[in-house]
Amino acid sequence: MSEEKSYALEIEDLNVEYHVDREVVHALNGISFRLAKGETIGLVGETGAGKTTTGLSILRLIPSPPGVVKGTVKVRGEDISTLSEKQMEAIRGNVVSMIFQDPMTSLNPTKTVEYQIAEVIRLHEKCGKKEAAAKAGDMLEMVGIPRDRGREFPHQFSGGMKQRVVIAMALACSPEILIADEPTTALDVTIQAQVLDMIRELKRKYKMSMIMITHDLGIVAEICDTVAIVYAGRIVEYGTLEDIFNHTAHPYTAGLFGSLPNMEDRTQRLKPIPGLMPDPTNLPEGCAFSPRCPNASEKCRTQCPALTRVEGEHFVACHLFKEE
Ligand code: SF4
Repeated sequence: MSEEKSYALEIEDLNVEYHVDREVVHALNGISFRLAKGETIGLVGETGAGKTTTGLSILRLIPSPPGVVKGTVKVRGEDISTLSEKQMEAIRGNVVSMIFQDPMTSLNPTKTVEYQIAEVIRLHEKCGKKEAAAKAGDMLEMVGIPRDRGREFPHQFSGGMKQRVVIAMALACSPEILIADEPTTALDVTIQAQVLDMIRELKRKYKMSMIMITHDLGIVAEICDTVAIVYAGRIVEYGTLEDIFNHTAHPYTAGLFGSLPNMEDRTQRLKPIPGLMPDPTNLPEGCAFSPRCPNASEKCRTQCPALTRVEGEHFVACHLFKEE
């Protein structure tokens, strides 16, 4: 993580909690990473690892209190905890935008799609209704939807088309940082490929920085420059695409790769990682992965490993590795 680069986003030791039925959910437990301008980072992990909470924290959309209990999020070098709600509103959708997981629930069923895109434009840019509607039409065309379909309602679109509308909304004000939260999970495989191609092309065109939240290593391989493997609210391995795919260090990352189907030998059985992610209200004392790790030792069960450098920009949080 070299100093000369200019960063669109810096997250330092982020700890987030939720209070549910008198229990404390430790959703994030010290997440740190930086995102350079124009770069794409993949946040990878199982459901409940803290990926979406990280995205919502960047937009300051976490219920508070308790919310962020420790750490900082800086957008363009500015600590967002010091900003007023009005200043945050100017950032959301304009500087940082998010494509949410499920297009079915991200759109208002009672408004036309053109109205919904134009609403985002009017909120952030000083323009009239007509101009905003024209811009909304441009955005629809950009994502491959004829502009005259803008007068239709979400239920008149297929799942893939709805996701395109959500992407058009997210990009309407040319954000500097795009958070894509499992943007293709709700789509079938052929539409997934089209939507991914489109996101990649738009990212290049607008020179955006992007956070790709996914559990799909295939998507990561196609779209990301750097990768953070997230487990129980912590980054357990961080590196370039080459580091993570060709020099896998953490046993959890190895487990994720091990559970992928082998295309060359289709008779081979899948090797899932045994067990489940720990309960976030009751995390294990040492390494959170220790109950599932084939290499766990006594030290792992009592001491939480810090993120240490393997080589270059490659970091891992595991007692098997010592700082180079
Ligand atoms: Fe496994 Fe121990 Fe490394 Fe955790 S610290 S991943 S339990 S070897």
